[in-house]
Amino acid sequence: MRTEIATLGEFGLIDRLTEGIKPENESTRYGVGDDAAVLSYPSEKQILVTTDLLMEGVHFDLTYVPLKHLGYKSAVVNFSDIYAMNGTPRQITVSLALSKRFSVEDMEELYSGIRLACQQYHVDIIGGDTSSSLTGLAISITCIGDADKDKVVYRNGAKETDLICVSGDLGAAYMGLQLLEREKTVLKGEKDIQPDFTGKEYLLERQLKPEARKDIIEKLAAANIVPTSMMDISDGLSSELMHICKQSNAGCRVYEEHIPIDYQTAVMAEEFNMNLTTCAMNGGEDYELLFTVPIADHEKVSQMEGIRLIGHITKPELGCALITRDGQEFELKAQGWNPLKEDK
Ligand SMILES: [Mg+2]
Repeated sequence: MRTEIATLGEFGLIDRLTEGIKPENESTRYGVGDDAAVLSYPSEKQILVTTDLLMEGVHFDLTYVPLKHLGYKSAVVNFSDIYAMNGTPRQITVSLALSKRFSVEDMEELYSGIRLACQQYHVDIIGGDTSSSLTGLAISITCIGDADKDKVVYRNGAKETDLICVSGDLGAAYMGLQLLEREKTVLKGEKDIQPDFTGKEYLLERQLKPEARKDIIEKLAAANIVPTSMMDISDGLSSELMHICKQSNAGCRVYEEHIPIDYQTAVMAEEFNMNLTTCAMNGGEDYELLFTVPIADHEKVSQMEGIRLIGHITKPELGCALITRDGQEFELKAQGWNPLKEDK
């Protein structure tokens, strides 16, 4: 079934998409349905705001990304930024620009993903806007969250001797993207065969349905650990490490042997003849957390499941470097960490 958006009109579409939404958070005083939403946060909280704009053809490709997944991911990446401040996401606004190619049913698909993510993470949809676009789809989500005033974690607090930690594993989302790109012609229906993703499910899941590390934030709080700096890994470990070091006026040493990588990522890198460490360092879209803790927390963090110590913070003069398995030192580069790419 295909219902043209014009048959509902802008307000009709918004009503349809936001039907049945019930706010869960106390700070949401009034959600969808008036000129503005009304929020009320207790004075001991700091309020966090983050926003993200996703353009079709630049940030996503609908030949292989289902609309529901796209909706889920667009919401989750914003939650991830709030967690990366050691906060809790509470509300989002969702703005869409869409061309005539999209039907009411398409938007319901997209919204079902956004609503699922909101349910999963207990976030309220409190408003947004829709507009027509001449070509393609654009999604802009703004997320509002809160954190205890003395617990907000910035990128600029890393100190010499702090330990560098990452959650989960790295490079899988990037390998998932490579896999989808490779199968694109098949997915477009240009060939009469089905792509075989058996054994690669994890990579696809990491690319198509990433999760934000709410669990890690909760674990850290339970262990009474407040990181000295933190950010989420959206552009690749290498580039995020450089952000932390630049903003903290520090250097770092990370060890190749400690970079967490899933087995499927390793198999895929081999299949694509790509350097595995390069993929993990520069892949991006992992949405894992990168953070630093004082060395005094060593025992606590090293016992936490799903967290790996990958290195330490140094004096700024030492720069940012990766130590390879054979003890060589390579300066980190924000984009394309090239030295090893060449020999494989
Ligand atoms: Mg971020």
